[in-house]
Amino acid sequence: MASFTIVGGGIAGASTAYHLARKGHQVTVYDRADTGQATDASAGIICPWVSQRRNKKWYRLVKESAKYYPDFIARLQEETGLDTGYRREGSISLFKDDHVQSLAFDRISAKKPDAPEMGEVRMVSREEVKQMHPDLTGLYPGVFVEGGGQVKGASLLKALKAGFLKHGGEWITADFDAEKSEGTVIYATGAWGIEQDTDPKIRHQRSEVLHFKLKDGMKEDHAPVVMALGPIYIVEMGLNQYAIGTTHEDTESFSAEPSAENHEYLRGLAHRYFPDSEIEDVKMMVGLKPYTRDFLPFLGKVEEDVFVINGMGATGLTASPFVGHEVAAHLSGEETTLDISDYSYI
Ligand SMILES: Cc1cc2nc3c(=O)[nH]c(=O)nc-3n(C[C@H](O)[C@H](O)[C@H](O)COP(=O)(O)OP(=O)(O)OC[C@H]3O[C@@H](n4cnc5c(N)ncnc54)[C@H](O)[C@@H]3O)c2cc1C
Repeated sequence: MASFTIVGGGIAGASTAYHLARKGHQVTVYDRADTGQATDASAGIICPWVSQRRNKKWYRLVKESAKYYPDFIARLQEETGLDTGYRREGSISLFKDDHVQSLAFDRISAKKPDAPEMGEVRMVSREEVKQMHPDLTGLYPGVFVEGGGQVKGASLLKALKAGFLKHGGEWITADFDAEKSEGTVIYATGAWGIEQDTDPKIRHQRSEVLHFKLKDGMKEDHAPVVMALGPIYIVEMGLNQYAIGTTHEDTESFSAEPSAENHEYLRGLAHRYFPDSEIEDVKMMVGLKPYTRDFLPFLGKVEEDVFVINGMGATGLTASPFVGHEVAAHLSGEETTLDISDYSYI
């Protein structure tokens, strides 16, 4: 068995720590709990098949990750007794008209033979959208994907940490002190990866999400996640309570203060998608999403005994459980499903 020091306890670091500790390695995590941690702010859609992104390496990673989720969550919840907020109520992608809906249906359903975990994929009319989600606008037709799901980033992180401790890991809430490192050091420092001298260069995008309640909400059971027009999504956070996002802002600032302008923009969107409801704000969440220059996660050795996991971008909550599984196998000298060298591209 080997020793590992993991720097950063967001979803990427915590998942890797958990999977390494399960294999019996000696693992210590240092986490500074910076304000703006992406995992804490994330809304948590797990539905990679509907994306229009064409990068094959990225798609392979997120597709395998979505497949891994159900068993991974069942095991983690059993080990810890904690709820992660993971649910698969399906997803509805909305489109501006019937023509675009039909093209999207062809594109999305073509992925199913290679990803049976998508479940049923079908076109839904405006009326069916209203039946599935009565408070939502009936303006747009959609495509329903049965396997679409969601997870709460903060709850999943809590469960991973509990599972990690149960498997004998040590979690230290502090800045990493290189003098104290043992064995291989794994940097999973998210947006703060810029503080390390090693490649890859990390930049970040600030994203804001509005959590709100529908005062007169009609939903009596769980709602599917909604991919609205453009990059907008709506995720249920509780009965008749939702998160709508997200804004995207390239920045060098590490401020995680919500902005009045983004708040107003997101409130406007909430009114547009729930036009007949009275909306009550709950909170704004701000997170800093880490990216590499080509938007692909980086998983690889950068120096002797130094490994980096970063650049998880907009789909890090989807990808990180499986990334942790794969990196733990790789660093234990075991076979992996992914070719890790596809993601070690400096
Ligand atoms: C608003 C928003 C919505 C999102 N929605 C989705 C979604 O629907 N689906 C999806 O799949 N993904 C989503 N994401 C993306 C996902 O949340 C991120 O990709 C993921 O959380 C990144 O995880 P991470 O562990 O790399 O970074 P982080 O979660 O930011 O964690 C990095 C940690 O490292 C710590 N750290 C840094 N430097 C040090 C140091 N020197 N010493 C100790 N600790 C240190 C920090 O304090 C921090 O806790 C969303 C993100 C945001 C912001």
